[in-house]
Amino acid sequence: MHMRKVNTDFECVVVGAGIIGLSIARSFSKRGVNVLVLEKNKKFGEETSSRNSGVIHAGIYYPKGSLKSLFCKKGNEELYKYARKRKIKINKCQKLIVSCSKSDEIILNKIKSIGKLNGVELFKKKKSDLKRMEPNLNCYSALLSKGSGIIDVHNLMLNFISDIERKKSQIVFNSTVDKVDATQEKIFFSVNSKETFSTKLLINCSGLFSHILAKKIMGLKKELIPKINFIKGNYMKLSGKSPFSRLIYPVPSKFGLGIHSTLNLSGQTIFGPDDEKVTKINYNVSERKKKKFVNSVKKFWPDIIDRNIAPDYSGIRTKTEDNDFMIQDYTNHKVPGLVNLFGIDSPGLTSSIPIGEYVSSKCLNYLR
Ligand SMILES: Cc1cc2nc3c(=O)[nH]c(=O)nc-3n(C[C@H](O)[C@H](O)[C@H](O)COP(=O)(O)OP(=O)(O)OC[C@H]3O[C@@H](n4cnc5c(N)ncnc54)[C@H](O)[C@@H]3O)c2cc1C
Repeated sequence: MHMRKVNTDFECVVVGAGIIGLSIARSFSKRGVNVLVLEKNKKFGEETSSRNSGVIHAGIYYPKGSLKSLFCKKGNEELYKYARKRKIKINKCQKLIVSCSKSDEIILNKIKSIGKLNGVELFKKKKSDLKRMEPNLNCYSALLSKGSGIIDVHNLMLNFISDIERKKSQIVFNSTVDKVDATQEKIFFSVNSKETFSTKLLINCSGLFSHILAKKIMGLKKELIPKINFIKGNYMKLSGKSPFSRLIYPVPSKFGLGIHSTLNLSGQTIFGPDDEKVTKINYNVSERKKKKFVNSVKKFWPDIIDRNIAPDYSGIRTKTEDNDFMIQDYTNHKVPGLVNLFGIDSPGLTSSIPIGEYVSSKCLNYLR
């Protein structure tokens, strides 16, 4: 069944005004393409893009050849450059990956080699160096990443929006894209189950909903839609003075980088995220998690006491089976004008600028 044809015709429609949709729209706009961004919520960036650690990652861990490794290191450099130019608040506070047991030492050495393969230099620090650098830290040794830092994500998104609007592209809120027909010469889509429009390009970067929206796209082979797992990350806030001036990470786990000690731009310490497999979107942070947090943080900060931490916020990562970003275009699904982004979890924020450039440059030939 075809959707009703209407006259309102767009060049490029981006679904989702998170950091990824905004970056893609910004990049298209810079190249002279008129973009319409549609966002179901009443404001931009209310989902995963405002529920993360705000860390500009250095690009250490990702397997060579993965999209994460392709984008993260480049994104790190570009994000610092952009933030400095736009006076967006950043703190290039550095990060320590710490070994809390003898067996972690082997993992640290592996991480150092993986970092090297990705072009990221990590500096091994002995206990004596670390006592001076971070007097409250308890560990055997650590790797120092000088390129890691934190950024004001909200302000970053505001700047992307001003770039988009300056080029006369626009963002429309309270607009859920709910039906897509990609079986005709243009892509037809409906908004809020009411009006139907058409577009030459439709970029699905709807975050936690990308695979759900993809299932509704007529003309897209459903077997190409990846299986997505939701991994929730909970955070706890520390009251009082921050024990560390750098980001402190244990060695990574299967789903995430481990419960780490991060800083926000006001200098407060936040612990997290943990990794909890969930099937539904629910952002409550349970008080009962305190024990797990205390036990985990205790390994590198023995002074933690549970009455000094309190549930804060949470976010949900979308994970593909192979733990990489997945960007599907014509070459994968043979549907002209359609791009689907799946599994844009960490380091999506860090990678946002190169992801935008990658998607827009891939589609430009199709438009012109
Ligand atoms: C716990 C956690 C910690 C993280 N920490 C970091 C970090 O420190 N550094 C880093 O680089 N990355 C980090 N990330 C990853 C980063 O936050 C994400 O990669 C990034 O925010 C994804 O942005 P997005 O635009 O794809 O998704 P979102 O921000 O979720 O945006 C998608 C948008 O699409 C909208 N939408 C959905 N469906 C529709 C529809 N049908 N119609 C219209 N609009 C729709 C949604 O409302 C939403 O606004 C972390 C992620 C998590 C969960």
